[in-house]
Amino acid sequence: MKRKKKGNLFKQDRARIFKDKRGDPYQQKQKLPDPTLCPNCGAVFTKGRWSWESIEFVENEKLCPACQRIEDGYPAGFVEVEGDFYQTHREEILHLFRNLEEQETQEHPMERIMRITEEDGKTVITTTGMHLPRMIGDALKNSYQGDLEISYDAESIARVHWVR
Ligand SMILES: [Zn+2]
Repeated sequence: MKRKKKGNLFKQDRARIFKDKRGDPYQQKQKLPDPTLCPNCGAVFTKGRWSWESIEFVENEKLCPACQRIEDGYPAGFVEVEGDFYQTHREEILHLFRNLEEQETQEHPMERIMRITEEDGKTVITTTGMHLPRMIGDALKNSYQGDLEISYDAESIARVHWVR
């Protein structure tokens, strides 16, 4: 795993991180009743994981970690993409992100895109899971080459930067 300091690239987001909490508040270490339904997205926690499994009768409801992150505005991953090549292939590349998300979310309901925003000529994608950013980064590199950097900080937040 390559770690690289990115200066103050994500300074603003870093400041939002809950410094006073130990570890990742979204890692559901506590036992949820099996099954538990997320009333927001319909994901079901059963057999130790969240899935889209349909369950006849669910008595317990709790917001899943992905919906909780979206509600709190607290991403697990950031992808920044920029560059002249990106700008001229923007639509195509944004489409790639959505396709990747769709595939990944089917298997892993906690891996979703939260928001896609434009900041200073860069596109910033935030995600609810820490694996999706890496998948997006790898897909960019495989499809378009360019320069890719992936790092994970102490809070297990994935940070991907791609430029071409
Ligand atoms: Zn949910």
